[in-house]
Amino acid sequence: MKKNQIIQLEISDITSDGNGVGKFDGMTVFVPETAVGDVINVKVVKVLKSYAYGIVQEIIKPSEDRIASDCPYFPKCGGCSFRHITYESEARLKEKFVYDAFTRIGKIKADFLPILECESHYKYRNKAQYPVSNSPNGNICGFYAKRSHRIICGTECMLLPDIFSRIADCIVNYTNINAIIGYDERTGKGLLRHIFIRKGYYSDEIMVCLVVKRAAVSEFKPLCNELTEKFECIKSIVMNINPENNNVILGKKTVTLWGREFISDFMCGNKIDISPEAFYQVNTPQAEKLYALAKEFVQPSGNEILLDLYCGAGTIGLSMADSVKRLIGVEIIPQAVENARKNAERNNIVNAEFICSDAGRAAEHLADNAVKPDVIILDPPRKGCDAKTLDAVLKMNPEKIVMISCNPATAARDCAYLNQYGYSVRKVRAVDLFARTTHVECVVLMSMIEA
Ligand code: SAH
Repeated sequence: MKKNQIIQLEISDITSDGNGVGKFDGMTVFVPETAVGDVINVKVVKVLKSYAYGIVQEIIKPSEDRIASDCPYFPKCGGCSFRHITYESEARLKEKFVYDAFTRIGKIKADFLPILECESHYKYRNKAQYPVSNSPNGNICGFYAKRSHRIICGTECMLLPDIFSRIADCIVNYTNINAIIGYDERTGKGLLRHIFIRKGYYSDEIMVCLVVKRAAVSEFKPLCNELTEKFECIKSIVMNINPENNNVILGKKTVTLWGREFISDFMCGNKIDISPEAFYQVNTPQAEKLYALAKEFVQPSGNEILLDLYCGAGTIGLSMADSVKRLIGVEIIPQAVENARKNAERNNIVNAEFICSDAGRAAEHLADNAVKPDVIILDPPRKGCDAKTLDAVLKMNPEKIVMISCNPATAARDCAYLNQYGYSVRKVRAVDLFARTTHVECVVLMSMIEA
């Protein structure tokens, strides 16, 4: 196989990063924006030892899963991967991503429950992070192109509330009129880096966070009046300062420009405050289903000590607090811990405490102090748990472990580790919070292997 060669392929599978898979001459060929059953002519763009990458040249016979994309930015934009197939086929793929991760990576046998599908496929996200940059014609704002930091101009998105686009456009317009320069990642020059917007799903409250290279309060003060006059839902405008030349979005310091330093929303019946730094699931109604499923797996009796590791603003643990004896949450981001404490208080939850710490360190400390949780919830970031955390979890010897993860591969790896030391995976269920993207959550119930 050679670069630029045209080959005919039938797509037999889709990988968890969204590439179609076909075979040619014993080689595996990955082709983006394809569907299972497609017969296509592919132009080979890269050849490695046992696999190659190609792009679609011509569709000879389209897959039955195919539909026409309804987004002008697809597939250039890196946001969606599945606008060209039906949601039904997307859900089947995601179910399989989770199944494959557990059975292939984790070599795990379990009861795999059918995927909980994403109810809404449009406008479901409560958060946007628009990158801003400059061009000879003024500042630009939009979304990153696939696997790149090139900005595709345009703030409208099928996955975001319409108001986000109007707010972002208003901000960019203001910067252009006032000669505030958008940040250039390559040179490190310019001021406005990102426009970060969050909206409470039930409350409709909006937070606007301007991420800037250096503190620039006076430059943006008049914008606050303009925004709050135009958009009544805005309850908070903050400025986050990120002076680093990196691609992490938020910096360490945040100042409030107008209104509150947080917005409130409701989650599983609790009123929840969220600071800009705190993690908050982007699809609220689906997150509520995710947490309800976790509660179903926990099956609290009222007598448990529940340890919620990686607890963010406390949402999961707090949704179960009235059904357990004691709740301990652990989270590394101080503002999120502050949110969690206040969220417990304002919902009259008195049996919850929150520790600001690395999950592994806190778990070790609890284990050393003979705290014996009956149930441990693990909801780590994409990279999963470290060995220290898992070892401390094992030391505490809980009756049940419920893992929630946005990365089935690391979840499977971590569950396989726990499995080696006495925990068996009972149930696994995929939950889709991110229709049209490759992302999927999963919830896992583990309990001790009976001797
Ligand atoms: N359970 C929460 C948050 C899940 S996201 C919810 O459902 O909303 C994962 C969380 O882990 C984030 O809040 C992140 O800040 C936190 N985190 C990341 N690394 C951590 C670590 N080493 N120790 C503790 N928390 C960590």
